[in-house]
Parts: sequence; C-alpha cells; structure tokens
Amino acid sequence: MLDNLGARFQDIFKKVRGHGKLSESNIKEALREVKMSLLEADVNYKVVKDFIKKIQDKAIGTEVVTGINPGQQFIKIVNDELVELLGGTNSRLTKGVRNPTVIMLAGLQGAGKTTFAAKLSNYLKKTGERPYMISADVYRPAAMKQLEVLGKQIDVPVYFEEGSKDAVGICERGLEKAKEANATYLIIDTAGRLHIDEHLMEELKDIKKTVRPQEILLVVDAMIGQDAVNLAESFNNALNIDGVILTKFDGDTRGGAALSIKSVVGKSIKFVGTGEKISDLELFHPERIASRILG
Ligand code: GDP
Repeated sequence: MLDNLGARFQDIFKKVRGHGKLSESNIKEALREVKMSLLEADVNYKVVKDFIKKIQDKAIGTEVVTGINPGQQFIKIVNDELVELLGGTNSRLTKGVRNPTVIMLAGLQGAGKTTFAAKLSNYLKKTGERPYMISADVYRPAAMKQLEVLGKQIDVPVYFEEGSKDAVGICERGLEKAKEANATYLIIDTAGRLHIDEHLMEELKDIKKTVRPQEILLVVDAMIGQDAVNLAESFNNALNIDGVILTKFDGDTRGGAALSIKSVVGKSIKFVGTGEKISDLELFHPERIASRILG
C-alpha cells in the first residue's frame, strides 16, 4: 500500500539531504517533484496545489534556507503538512450516553460494508463492548446470510428478516432487539448499489430518521482513488456522514482517497480495512500513515 508514493518521496528527500544548504531553487525543484508524485498518486488537484503552497510558504522562510540542518527541516515541514492532510489526529468512534450507540454503515455495493460490520463488532468486543448487528441489505439476500455467518464466527448476534423488503422496519425491530439484549453498540449494515441513486439515498435517509444513529460511517474502497472524494461528497450531502472507512488498504492503493478526503469533504477517516480476515482492521493514525509514506 502506498508503496509508489513512498518510494518517490524517499528519492526526493535523498536529494534534499544531499545539499549542505538549500537555496530557494533547490526547494522549488523538490516541491515540483512532490507535486508530481502526489498527482501521480491520484490526489485531488486542488488539494495538491494548497499542500504545495503551504510547504513553500513555510520552507522559503529564513529557517530552512539559512538554518543548521536545512534538509531535515524541509522534511519535517513536509511531514507535518502530510499529517494534517491525512486528518491531523486519530479520530475515534463516538459513544452515546444511552445504550446502544448506533452506528449506521453506508456505501456502494462491494465496498466492504458487510465485512467491516463484522470487523468493527469484533474490534468493539475485544475492547469489552457488547455489539449487536442488523442486516438491512434487503436487495442482496446473500448479504444477510453473509453477516449471519460472520456474526456466528465472532459470537455477535445478528438481526435480519429473511425475504423482507422493509429495510426501515428491520432496523426499527432490530433496534428493539438490541436494547433487549442490553447491547452497547448496534451496527447497521445497509444496502449498497453499483452507483448512487435516488432510491438508495431515500432509503438511507429513512433509516437515519428511524434509528437516529450516533455515527454514520461511509465505507469506501480505497482502490477507487480520488473518485472516493466525489462519492463521499454525495453521501455527505444526503446524510451528513460522521466519518469514512477505507477498505482494501492492503491492495495497491496509490493514496488518492486517503490524502484527499479530509481536505475536500471535511470528514475524518476512522479505520482502514487491511485484508479479508475479520481481524484485518486498523485505526487510522495520520502520523503512522505519514511515516509509512515518508519512510
Ligand atoms: P459490501 O457489498 O459493501 O457489503 O461488501 P463486502 O463486505 O461483501 O466485501 C466485498 C469484497 O471485498 C469481499 O470479497 C471482501 O472479502 C472484500 N474485502 C472487504 N474488505 C476488504 C479489505 O480491507 N481488504 C481486502 N483485500 N478485501 C476486502
């Protein structure tokens, strides 16, 4: 993951370290290369432009050009700005005052919602919570079975109604069951479509109105690069989402999604999926990702 971008940055930094002093033109040259690398990684153009401007303003100050260790200082500025781009600090899940805290998942078909529902339940269980899941994917009957099987594996109950097309009703009744079971978290897996459509959004809005979730998390496949940004904007406009989950981060993702979403949509990435197994889930730590990229 992010290997190409990492290799590019390491090359640029090697050159920067090689200079005893950094002239303004050395910095401009390094920044030109940083810009190219980010664009090749499919980062949103406006995000790249702003990023380069910020670094330029800081780096072409006196301290980098005349300081004792100009290369290191330049690298530190890039690192700090990269951490900001990735969202600054690690963004945690909300916990409601009353049980259960309701987390509603949304996203396109195949993004990894069902898998993430199980991964999140497993993660919460390990931290001492009592998760409960609902499958409200009424269009893909296999999704209900899939969640049921995953729930059995991690010993987390799953509410679903076989054959029903009433997603809102399923959520309403599932919420009651979760309360009866004294669950501390309720994770709702919703239906996805191949593309965003009006009907999908209306259904999600109706579910939101009914269960009043503390968090709406958009599950996005990291492999789609900066298309993830448009997707996140559409879902955010319709639902006012609380955060983003990037799945398939173990794949050959170039980084466009991870590096563009926070700046453009203003929502933090909370977790990344790093494989198909239930345990393949990581909290999204901007600092760790930045150091993975910068080496
Ligand atoms: P849904 O339609 O959004 O519910 O998507 P699924 O949860 O069914 O996932 C679609 C496919 O992506 C499945 O084959 C999953 O095993 C796979 N998948 C989900 N998350 C990840 C991940 O983080 N990494 C990898 N490599 N595969 C994933």
